[in-house]
Amino acid sequence: MRKWLLFSFLCCALAAFAQKDSPLALTHVTVIDGTGAPAQPDSTVVIAQGHITAVGPNDAVKIPAGTRVVDATGKFLIPGLCDMHGHLTDATEDAFPLLIMNGVTGVRDMGGDLAQLDRWRSEIDSRQRVGPHIIRAGPFVDGPKEGVTNRLTVRTPEEARRAVHDLKAKGVDFIKVHNALPPEAFFALIDEAHKEHIPVAVHLPKNVSSAEASDAGVASLEHVETLYENDLWRKGATAKTIEQAVDEILGPIGQDLFQRSMKNGTWYVPTLVAYERGFVLWSKDPESLKPRLDIHEKNIEVIRMMHKAGVQIMAGSDFSDWGMVPGVDLHNELALLVEAGFTPMEALQAATLNPAIFLGKTDTYGTIQPGRVADLVLLNMNPLEDISHTRKIHAVVLGGKFYPLASITAQSLQDAAKQ
Ligand SMILES: [Zn+2]
Repeated sequence: MRKWLLFSFLCCALAAFAQKDSPLALTHVTVIDGTGAPAQPDSTVVIAQGHITAVGPNDAVKIPAGTRVVDATGKFLIPGLCDMHGHLTDATEDAFPLLIMNGVTGVRDMGGDLAQLDRWRSEIDSRQRVGPHIIRAGPFVDGPKEGVTNRLTVRTPEEARRAVHDLKAKGVDFIKVHNALPPEAFFALIDEAHKEHIPVAVHLPKNVSSAEASDAGVASLEHVETLYENDLWRKGATAKTIEQAVDEILGPIGQDLFQRSMKNGTWYVPTLVAYERGFVLWSKDPESLKPRLDIHEKNIEVIRMMHKAGVQIMAGSDFSDWGMVPGVDLHNELALLVEAGFTPMEALQAATLNPAIFLGKTDTYGTIQPGRVADLVLLNMNPLEDISHTRKIHAVVLGGKFYPLASITAQSLQDAAKQ
């Protein structure tokens, strides 16, 4: 209850701090626009009607009369972050202020209660609620499973094809497949989804290999560890243990998979942080910790090779599975991507430009350029020097509204916690 009160308070506090729709200009700011271009110091960004209208050198950009000017000297501006693997239904509405305070202005929801998600989405769109843009799958398409919710249970190819039409009729943005879907039903679903032009995101079903899923034309593959689990199950598998399967992926089998993934345009969302938090950080048993730690390190190695090979990768945290924390754990994922050999710029793009490319929305999101929605994060320190500086948030701009987060954290959090 106390937690609920705290977050309700924060929602109200955020709404109170947001400014009305007056035009906004951030001046003297260093812009890291997300395109991969070098940081541009002493810039001005002008925002009106929720969109970026001008970006350029401070002395060259004209600020219209009546614009609210925020002097952002010494600060760094990046595009709003997008978590490409989250579960809002599990996280509940408590997640919204956390996401925004952490600069996460977009979420790809990977399976949940469609009616609830749509209620939240329309409340956010109509400004009754402060929250991120939501792209959602609705119910998972899965095989028979005990004790789980928000599933569309599918057993046969016919049911799979019907599921595609049912979900399309409900207006989902994409389809999320989970691991108990029988292989024949899986391939039928992908085939039908292609015909209906609906992307499919996949937690690999047992007995389907990553290579088969990539060749079938899935849009994205989720969770790095599913590469090995399914290497154990693939036809003609030689690995007998998870450790052997990891080593296979680190060898020629992995290289072949990465080449296929690039040829097929398959995206990966490794959720390294979900494995780390789920299996390593919460492990209390020394016996089980060591092998899990080894796998976590190899996960990072696999993503290093995948990235080096040129496979397209996006950042996702898998909140709130495994007790992942909405918002916070996306920053942990960015740090892990840097550990896996990404430059800080590439890690930022995994949560900004890449999601926009994946979603076909580069004209709307993902970069700081005129015409894009004004979802921005103003940082106190340079994230290109150290990716952990993405946590040093001074303010978030959401749809053109300025939320100076520091001013609500100190006293208002304390007051709320006392209740
Ligand atoms: Zn998930």
